[in-house]
Amino acid sequence: MSDTENGNDSAFENDAQNWYQAQDVQLVSRSARLLELSFTISSEGFAPKPGQFVQLGFHSESAGDFPLRAYSLAGIDGKRCIIHIGCSRQGPGEVTGYIFGALRDELRDGAVRIDVYGPFGEAYYREGARRPCVAVAGGYGIAQLRTIVHAALADPLMPHMAMFWGARRPENLYLLDELQDLVAAHPDRLSLYLALEEAGDGNGGPPIPDGAHIGYVSDILREQIDDFSRMDIYLCGPHIMIKNTLPVITGKDSVRSRIYFDPVV
Ligand SMILES: Cc1cc2nc3c(=O)[nH]c(=O)nc-3n(C[C@H](O)[C@H](O)[C@H](O)COP(=O)(O)OP(=O)(O)OC[C@H]3O[C@@H](n4cnc5c(N)ncnc54)[C@H](O)[C@@H]3O)c2cc1C
Repeated sequence: MSDTENGNDSAFENDAQNWYQAQDVQLVSRSARLLELSFTISSEGFAPKPGQFVQLGFHSESAGDFPLRAYSLAGIDGKRCIIHIGCSRQGPGEVTGYIFGALRDELRDGAVRIDVYGPFGEAYYREGARRPCVAVAGGYGIAQLRTIVHAALADPLMPHMAMFWGARRPENLYLLDELQDLVAAHPDRLSLYLALEEAGDGNGGPPIPDGAHIGYVSDILREQIDDFSRMDIYLCGPHIMIKNTLPVITGKDSVRSRIYFDPVV
């Protein structure tokens, strides 16, 4: 079976067999700037791997058809998928504005259809590789890292994963409790390093977590690991983070074939 037949072609060809319709859609707020959208795809053909993403197309009765946007799968539970959608401080763009605005009412009224196109992506977890892993996330890449770390812990052949999470401010660390609980439950197989670009505004927001580095996630990665030769490396996040992280990954030439990331526009 080819990648395309598998639904895993990373090229966005308009391939009818990769289109699905989201069913039983739920939208809940995780914070003022973060929504969780979940839905079921009942088709047997839809089989995303941890670390992959989908494109969503919103067709609204009031606002019309929106352009496709890519979203990482933050959770995969059988046929049910979870997506985390963030709204930046610069303000929402076209699709984000709709999701944070009219979508909730239109879901209640049955006035929107959501098409799901995919899954896509090469940066999915390599099960059974028997190698230690490094996963680096920045910005909305933490959603992708979430499915990768859960899959890695479920893989009995995965000896250890070092997670690195870079965020702008302490209030952006919305999955911190969940990840720290995972580390506490698997102290020999999982470690977590945090990097914050800013210390916070000191106006009652959450404090800087103990041990967090102030700076970029690529800096703390350089401090902690100097030879990646035996590791699988997953990079989850925006282009600028991946561009700054790639030069830090040093080791034997073969390491390059085990760096997994998806080009992000
Ligand atoms: C592989 C991949 C995975 C992704 N995963 C996620 C995910 O899990 N969660 C998530 O939330 N996003 C994710 N994204 C990003 C997502 O696809 C969208 O790009 C994002 O939601 C913004 O879409 P939009 O239509 O709201 O913004 P657009 O309208 O495309 O605007 C893009 C940005 O420009 C800014 N902007 C727009 N118009 C103006 C203007 N006139 N002046 C100044 N600024 C402006 C907006 O604030 C916005 O931040 C992912 C992207 C990729 C490629």
